[in-house]
Amino acid sequence: MTGLISRLIFLGPPGAGKGTQAMRLANLYEIPHISTGDLLRTAVQEQTPLGKKAQEYMDQGDLVPDDLMLDLVLHRLEDDDVVKGWILDGFPRNVSQASFLDHLLAEIHQKCNCVVNLEVPDETLVGRMLGRGRQDDNEQTIRHRLEVYHQETAPVIDYYRERNQLVSVNGNLSMDEVTNALKNMLHP
Ligand code: AMP
Repeated sequence: MTGLISRLIFLGPPGAGKGTQAMRLANLYEIPHISTGDLLRTAVQEQTPLGKKAQEYMDQGDLVPDDLMLDLVLHRLEDDDVVKGWILDGFPRNVSQASFLDHLLAEIHQKCNCVVNLEVPDETLVGRMLGRGRQDDNEQTIRHRLEVYHQETAPVIDYYRERNQLVSVNGNLSMDEVTNALKNMLHP
């Protein structure tokens, strides 16, 4: 990657395809894909102290409390491999996480180049998530995760829009079409 856009935040509702698209771009640009959901699932699998605390929230489709999340992200962004860039997927999930991230990035002298908002209508999301078969993907928790998204995470979109960092992309297309749209937007 030539360096212009190497630090990206992916926003979007659960089931929007953030994980897939973030992973594809991270592979293409050879930068780490930092998914807080993946980090948490590993912690749960390994039954670390964080995993034990986070599991219940994840199973119910609630956000894991900020104090646990902020530590997790702080430590991940201290790793050596993030110096060349990163794609954050699943963080920030509320305005206080967004504000924490701003301060953290300023402290480590990094700047996010672009915040991508993947837009997908709710009715498409439920069907997509039911098709994924993840442990926390039953219809009740899916609907709850969508509610949590609209209440807590959607305001993060305005947070970045007001700071002129937001770019919206239509996520209601095939995976390849979305990947191409993202590539064109980032490196036209
Ligand atoms: P995801 O894979 O991004 O859908 O995340 C799966 C679950 O992990 C979410 O439903 C939350 O319980 C938890 N989670 C992931 N990222 C965060 C975050 N930034 N803040 C709070 N909880 C999170």
